Amino acid sequence: MRDLRVSVTDRCNFRCMYCLPETEAAENFYRGRWGNLVESTLIARQWQPQDKILRFEEIERAVRVAVGLGVEKIRITGGEPLLRQQIETLVGKIAAIPGIKDLAMTTNGFLFSKKARALRDAGLKRVSFSLDSLQPDNFRKITGRDGLNAVLESIDLAKELGFTPVKVNAVVIRGINDHEIEALAEFAAEKNISLRFIEFMPLDSNRAWQKELVVPGKEILNRLQTQFQLQPVQSANTSETARRWSFGNGQGEIGIIAPVSEPFCGHCNRVRLTADGKIRTCLFSIVEHDLREMLRNGASDAEIRRFMQAVVWQKEDRHHIGEPEFVQPERTMSCIGG
Ligand code: SAM
Ligand code: SF4
Repeated sequence: MRDLRVSVTDRCNFRCMYCLPETEAAENFYRGRWGNLVESTLIARQWQPQDKILRFEEIERAVRVAVGLGVEKIRITGGEPLLRQQIETLVGKIAAIPGIKDLAMTTNGFLFSKKARALRDAGLKRVSFSLDSLQPDNFRKITGRDGLNAVLESIDLAKELGFTPVKVNAVVIRGINDHEIEALAEFAAEKNISLRFIEFMPLDSNRAWQKELVVPGKEILNRLQTQFQLQPVQSANTSETARRWSFGNGQGEIGIIAPVSEPFCGHCNRVRLTADGKIRTCLFSIVEHDLREMLRNGASDAEIRRFMQAVVWQKEDRHHIGEPEFVQPERTMSCIGG
């Protein structure tokens, strides 16, 4: 396990249709398709109370012990990580831990321009932005926020400030943004960035996921190959989740992350720490392992180390999406940390 994803908050300023589909637009879309199968999406969200959320010192300690066990890459995520006050302070603390080779953040980008310089100065190396649409109306429909321009500005700023590489993640949902696949790829080429198309996974808060809404990676690739001269990019990293292609001119690339249609569980090297201090060994884990109580009850570093080792040995072999025994986890992507 080399890659630890640390969620710093379960809160979010967006309501993405594939994550927190709690807007009227999401309700209309899913209800229009599945009628009474889907419960109302307009639920009142309950966030975790502050005292349940790990403090920076607790996160730093957990990361330090994990790095001592071989973790090399930390990704700060959420919820929306930029909603956590003084997030740059945490970035600084983590960046100072010896042994970390890669420190990145995944963000929806809406608040990034306010924090970008502080994050870079604190030691953040890479940023991945979520951007599922280049059309203002569709962006608002998908995220519940009028934020396209802010996110586009954030992407430009990240490039200007030297975050490398700047990546963009687009979750593709059939009937929502699949008509924008080519335009998003064009955007990657124009902006010289890496854009990853991600299959919609059953991790949304309203259990509205249906396999018919997943646009399989192969279909995305076939469409792109008819428009672009894509060249496969070989990766030295065996745990890479994306299959990647360049446009053949050294400007930008696309990746396809297909956990539903082409699972890559066999070479997964990821572990997650939720904002409330639970270790999850898979996005689809149905059990969580409570680190917070250990951190707060005087456990020594050696005890935490043994606990982490024992937890990792129980990591699931694979997910079971699409199989009869599949159980959607209680918690959504926004709580688990994508
Ligand atoms: N709020 C930040 C953001 O949106 O980038 C970070 C947290 S978000 C949960 C992390 C990533 O998970 C995003 O790239 C998002 O697109 C992805 N994600 C969320 N729900 C998903 C789902 N049901 N299927 C696939 N990807 C999902
Ligand atoms: Fe928020 Fe990210 Fe989930 Fe969208 S994907 S609702 S931005 S946590």
